[in-house]
Order: sequence, then structure tokens, then C-alpha cells
Amino acid sequence: MNAHNPSGWRPAMGEGSDAECDLVTHSGDRALMVEEPLIFELGGGDKCGVDFDGPEEPPLASLEPFLRKEAPVLPGLTEPETVRHYTRLSRQNYAIDLGPFPLGSCTMKHNPRLNEKVARLPGFADVHPLQPQDTVRGALEVIEQLADWLVRLTGMNAVAMSPKAGAHGELCGLLCIRAALEARGDAREVVLVPESAHGTNPATAAFAGYGVESIPATPDGRVDLAALEARLGPDVAGVMITNPNTCGLFERDMKAIADAVHSAGGFVYCDGANFNAIVGKVRPGDLGVDAMHINLHKTFSTPHGGGGPGSGPVVLSEALTPYAPLPFVARGPDGAVRLVEEEDGAAELPGSFGRMTAFHGQMGMFTRALAYILSHGVDGLCRVAEDAVLNANYVLRSLEDLLDAPYGASGPCMHEALFSDAGLAEGFSTLDIAKGLIDEGFHPMTVYFPLVVHGAMLVEPTETESKAGLDRFIGSLRDIAERARSGDESLKAAPVFAPRRRLDETRAARKPVLVWKEQEG
Ligand SMILES: *Cc1c(COP(=O)(O)O)cnc(C)c1O
Repeated sequence: MNAHNPSGWRPAMGEGSDAECDLVTHSGDRALMVEEPLIFELGGGDKCGVDFDGPEEPPLASLEPFLRKEAPVLPGLTEPETVRHYTRLSRQNYAIDLGPFPLGSCTMKHNPRLNEKVARLPGFADVHPLQPQDTVRGALEVIEQLADWLVRLTGMNAVAMSPKAGAHGELCGLLCIRAALEARGDAREVVLVPESAHGTNPATAAFAGYGVESIPATPDGRVDLAALEARLGPDVAGVMITNPNTCGLFERDMKAIADAVHSAGGFVYCDGANFNAIVGKVRPGDLGVDAMHINLHKTFSTPHGGGGPGSGPVVLSEALTPYAPLPFVARGPDGAVRLVEEEDGAAELPGSFGRMTAFHGQMGMFTRALAYILSHGVDGLCRVAEDAVLNANYVLRSLEDLLDAPYGASGPCMHEALFSDAGLAEGFSTLDIAKGLIDEGFHPMTVYFPLVVHGAMLVEPTETESKAGLDRFIGSLRDIAERARSGDESLKAAPVFAPRRRLDETRAARKPVLVWKEQEG
């Protein structure tokens, strides 16, 4: 019996661990490779991290209906036991501070520590959204300055700062489009989404109540302009185009697309999550875009993953500005920035479609993004785009002799390199390559997306990886690709060095074990 493993829990060696080592330790752990049980398996008894006074006897009669009838089911751990449990788990995780995250479309890049330092200043970190405006002038000034940068960098007219993520920004943009159409008494039902768009685009359009129709891609991986023009008509509210698109390519026909959509009475939504590839180089406003979200947590380097926190401000054209959500920040004639809520908003922005969030946005994300922008400056932001594109093309050209690059012939890519599973040995798949990367100590790339490419592998190295770091990644990926091409069966067992072997992903999705039940005996 071991203090760290009171339940005598033991990993199944060989099944979940390195099969080449049969030695079983007393604790079940192997040095720093810890087999961590569930917290409920670890705890026991009525241990507690905090000493509370006992309840008052008898309890107040008025509280009686609210009192628990049975004790809650809690794991029963002391504070150090709890802290160690989560710290041990965290060490089995992968993080951007451990190594590159080559996930396509996600832009997981280094977050400069300067951003963190600024965001933790008490004047930003400790403000409360219900504080009187007079006490948060500096925070409002930060929001306004960031808004000004976003409008200038995109060449648009205004920006809605409150949406909390990219997908939330998409919804904001579509609600603006709907309000603009309703204002002219023009109910339209369909939103067109090209095959090369991000998956959130059709999901958002459906959520906003639109019918979604797909527009095919050309053989070179871009929107088929002729097919799009052929489908335009009085029922089309707009198009949602990801640019650069999920094939890692710039949609060169954007202006022609926008002109065609506008002359058919629709609006152009651009998914700007990949703005890091073009920031400082292209202004979407010049291409005829009416609404575009910017993922602050991607382009402007604030932390993200695991569902948040994110921030997805939406820049708007002149045509959509009157319908923007409340509240918004505005600089008054006296030069002071104020937050316009419903009371004043009814007069100042009568067309607003309403409110999307309880408050005005993610202060910590705003502060980090502005710190990132100011520390880079305009020239530094241009370098961001240049380095993002250079790194992706380095990855593309360093691998295309071993991994099929379906659009390699379309010219240089933007911020991400796309490969397919063509050329792998019979029985070998994209999944084998992804699992092989885990053994090499890398987070896998995005797999099986975009759908336009069979067995897609989408790699976004981002601008923050050095050449030495990229060479290490490319070396590993070349080695794995060679094994998958030559039919090296050992690759099918990957990962063998991870805490867990390859899972039955279908079973994990269809029959997940979500509840821990106390074992008999
Ligand atoms: C990440 C991403 C989104 C969604 O953004 P979230 O902040 O995760 O909601 C939408 N489109 C593209 C192209 C993206 O990369």
C-alpha cells in the first residue's frame, strides 16, 4: 500500500504504457511519468482542505428548505493532495510554452510575456464591469485605442468590440446583415458558403436561421467565382468567405466576388481568423468586405485554447455600421471615451440589433492585444504577416517531395501548408502520421480538415517559430512520412511513448465513460 496510491490503483503496463519495459514499480509510476488516477479514486474519507466551524445548531428555520439532505459527493482530499493532483495532470498536457502547436487554422503562437505583464496591472486586471464609468476611464481608453487600430488595419468603418470569440463574431456580423436587410424590408433566406470556408461559417449561418448553400472550389483551391455568380439572386442575404481560406490560399477574386454580391443586393462576410497572414499588407475594407471578425486570440497573440478566453471583435463597413450591437465605446466631443449603453444607444444608434453579451467585452484580451500591437508597431505587424507566410512556405516546400501538397502548384501558400494522404502505403493514413508526431514530442497538426482534400493535414507553423525549431519539426515529419510511404508497420502502433496508446476513437465518441462508479471490493 502506498501513500500516493491509497486505492492500490495500478496502470495496466503494456496496454497503456511503454511495452518494451516490463518492470512494474511499487507505486505504479515510472520516475516523472506518473499514472494519475481520477481525483475520486485518489481521495477518500471526510478529509477536507479547509477547517470550517460546524453548522449552527439548530439551523435557522428560514434556511431549512435550502439545506442539503445528504452530504455532497466530494473526493475528500487535503489542499496539498489536490494541488499535486492537478499539477501532475498538467505535466501530461502539451502547451505552446512546451513546443510548437502546428494546428492549421488555429494560429497557436507564442504569447509575449510583455502582454501578460501589462494585463496584470491592477488598473486593468481588477476593474469590474459594473464600476462607474468615471472610475475606469483608462480601461475605456484602451478599448477605444484598440478599436481604432483594428479599424485602420482593416480599412473598415467601425468595430463591434463585444463578441467573445471568432464564431461569436460571425454571429454578430450575420445579425448586422439581417438587421440591414430587414431595415430595407428585404427578407432573404440563404447564405452562401464556399467549400474552402471554415466549419464555423455554415454552422453560424444555420444558427442565425439562414439556409446554407455550398459553393464549390476550383481545382486550384479557391472559390469558384462563376458558380458563385450563377447562384446569386434576390434570396441570397450574403456570402461568408474565409480569406485566406482553409486551403491556406488567398482568395484573389475577393473584389470581384464582393462586387457581384453587392450588385445582387447581398452582403459580404469575411472570416478574418487568419488575419495574421495579411495584417499590414491587405485591408479587407478595400476588397469590399462588409463585416469581418478578428480573432484577437490568434492574430494578436492572446492565450487561447480549451474554449477560451477569446475575443472576436467585428469590423463593419459603412453600410452595416448603423446596425452594430450595444454597448459600444465612443469618443465624445470633449475627447473623453465613454461607454454607450441602451439609454443613450436608442438615440445614438437606433438601428442597433441589440446586445450580444452581458458586458462590453474581454478586458484582459483587449489589454494584451493592444500591448502586442503597440510593441510591434506598423512595421512589426507587417513582419508578422511576412514571417507567418515565409514559415508556412518553408514547411510546404520542405515536405512536398514526401507528402502530397495538392495545391503546391497554385503558387506560394499563405500562413498554412496543406497536405493530403496521397502516396502513403496501402493501409496507412493521415491518422498514423498524426499519432507518429506524438511519439516525436510534437502536437499533431490539424487532420481531416479542410474536407476538400482527402486525408487532409493542415500545418500552421505561425510566425513565432524559429528556423531551427521548424527544422526539428520538419525532420520528424519527414521521418514519419517516409515510414508511412514505405509501409513501416511499427508506425501503426504509435504513439508508444505517450501515457496512453492509440485510443479507439469511435468507441470513445460513441460510448464515452463519463461517470466514475465506485469499484466493488
Ligand atoms: C479559429 C477560427 C474560427 C473560430 O474562432 P473561435 O474563436 O474559435 O470561435 C473561425 N474561422 C477560422 C478560419 C478559424 O481559424
